[in-house]
Amino acid sequence: MLKDYEKQIKDADLVLVGIGKELHAKKLIQFEKEITNPNYQKLLGKDDEKSQWMRTVYERDYLLKLGEVDYFQPLEEVLEGKNYFVITSNDDGLIYHSKLDKAKITAPCGNGDFFQCSKPCDEQLYPANLGLADLIKYYEETGIIDSLECPKCGQPLIFNVRTEETKSVYVEGAYLNSWANYTKWLQKTLNKKLFILELGEGFETPSLFRWPFEKMAFYNEKATFVRVHKSLYQMGKELKGKGEAIAMDSKEFLGNER
Ligand SMILES: [Zn+2]
Repeated sequence: MLKDYEKQIKDADLVLVGIGKELHAKKLIQFEKEITNPNYQKLLGKDDEKSQWMRTVYERDYLLKLGEVDYFQPLEEVLEGKNYFVITSNDDGLIYHSKLDKAKITAPCGNGDFFQCSKPCDEQLYPANLGLADLIKYYEETGIIDSLECPKCGQPLIFNVRTEETKSVYVEGAYLNSWANYTKWLQKTLNKKLFILELGEGFETPSLFRWPFEKMAFYNEKATFVRVHKSLYQMGKELKGKGEAIAMDSKEFLGNER
């Protein structure tokens, strides 16, 4: 449990946190219970592509309109007053609705804040909230599930998030500032007492932070590395003495009962 590491975290100069799929909104939020709109409820259980798209539209709209959430509260508590940085491979924007410092978060796979051209014909990003509102209004008035078109080339707009399907067309503009802050912060970790906490990251994008964390833990003499995952918790022998692999779902590890 996270509580067991509180002292070590307090003791560290810097704390680096990676957040993966085990803490994705899809795992933490039961959309089918939270979104009570009957138009959304009608879409549940329908497997055709259009219904799936429309469900995603409602779920993304729900995520964008969220206020502050408490899914990460135990993490907020242990990081209070610490010099930390959080990187996530999730594309749900959920961590930005926590109480964590937004200037200390980077989400290279996107947040769902924008649409982009699926081609893409250029790097333009379109605010998602406007498009989502249009799609929902049209669907609720006519029953027709529509999609959005790129105003420049007419191809469909897609969410500006990095997934297996979109990785070759993903427009990277939105996260680059936070990424620059992240790499700058990492440079300061050298020879510092660094506590690395990896929560629920699988092998979807291991080059993002799973492998880099291993490398940092290996080269930093004063690093401590804790990896948490229900099944993909394994850690190489070279990290013996510095690393700890915890076979537990990250949600359970946080100890947040909801
Ligand atoms: Zn286009």
